[in-house]
Amino acid sequence: MAGVDLDNQAGVVGGLVAMSTDDSHRPETHAAQALGWHEPQFHSVVPPLFPSASYQRAPDGGYPGGHTYSRDQNPTYDQAEALLARLEGGVAARLFSSGMAAATTVFETLKAGDHIVAPKEMYWTIRLWLEGLPERKGVTISFADNTDLDSWQTCLQKPNTKLVWLETPSNPSLSITDVRAVCELAHAVGAHVVADSTVATPALTRPLSLGCDLVMHSATKQLNGHTDVLAGVLVTKAEDDVWAEVLRDRAYRGAVLGPFEAWLLTRGMRTLFLRVRASCAGAQRVAEALDAHPAAIEVMYPGLPHHPGHALAKTQMDGGFGALLSLRVEGGAARAQAVAGALRVFKNATSLGAVESLVEHRAPVEGPGTRVPPDLLRLSVGIEHPDDLIEDLQRAFELTA
Ligand SMILES: *Cc1c(COP(=O)(O)O)cnc(C)c1O
Repeated sequence: MAGVDLDNQAGVVGGLVAMSTDDSHRPETHAAQALGWHEPQFHSVVPPLFPSASYQRAPDGGYPGGHTYSRDQNPTYDQAEALLARLEGGVAARLFSSGMAAATTVFETLKAGDHIVAPKEMYWTIRLWLEGLPERKGVTISFADNTDLDSWQTCLQKPNTKLVWLETPSNPSLSITDVRAVCELAHAVGAHVVADSTVATPALTRPLSLGCDLVMHSATKQLNGHTDVLAGVLVTKAEDDVWAEVLRDRAYRGAVLGPFEAWLLTRGMRTLFLRVRASCAGAQRVAEALDAHPAAIEVMYPGLPHHPGHALAKTQMDGGFGALLSLRVEGGAARAQAVAGALRVFKNATSLGAVESLVEHRAPVEGPGTRVPPDLLRLSVGIEHPDDLIEDLQRAFELTA
């Protein structure tokens, strides 16, 4: 074929021609082709990288490329953001310099007197950051039991509760929150609901379709998947007042992702579905093997039929139960630490959702006040052969027996 018929393309977005995938295509196709955007001059199959921090005006002073300055927008962000909005079923997305930058931006939209409800079990650094928020900002916070709807209901205060934060499956306890039910309760008092969906990814769960108003991800994890980018993202269901505040905050405070990281993230997301499927299948195998092993006194993975959130997870996760699982090691904290140190295929390192499997002895990382049991190991299952991972665990248990 002698080139693409540009007149038939949907339009030009920031110098890139949109797009060869459309509404009729499935998420896997959007991801594999990163929406199929390409630049109009050379028609490259892979998108270009736009490092420019600034964009030229036309003689009339306008910006013909639709971009002014990269603290506000950059064509390389546009493509990753458009793909993320598409995968989550939202109307817009914005990248941030980390998951923490994305999360804290949401809380910064609140005013003195506003009330927040957050879960007791949540990503520890967000929890620690939230603890200082009442004093800094004059907001109040209640913490709900992740799995108890009565507890969420009791925490909600009409009309002060403006923001409800949930995280499911939670990191590292793997508890499952009923997203639809919490959204109903929160919307009844007029609160906005935000889901930290890092562990689930849009390949398994789409929180906006379950009722949430915003989705947050640490894109450092499975969205990028290769442990070589630190990034965060927010996706919104509507271009409402909260979203306007999010846009203002990012443009003013500048917690943007560099173009190179945005480009790497887009490349990572092209294999998202393959990686998530492989990791889910591996995590299921590892969880089942651990469940049958006497050295694991408790295995926390929503894919196990005896997990208290298994039936609920099936209604809000489609295609698997995620790459993350935790176990409690027989023999206490010292043995847990020894097992983490004895593993060879699992790397003893923090983070999750990458192609390589990781183990972390979690309680010492969280420190005083943590709800994580001292003997808990968090495992992130990559895309290695599951038998190698299972044999690695069996060997480490034997060495530390
Ligand atoms: C890692 C993580 C974060 C924070 O993201 P960073 O990219 O490390 O800033 C937030 N929530 C969850 C569930 C995470 O796993």
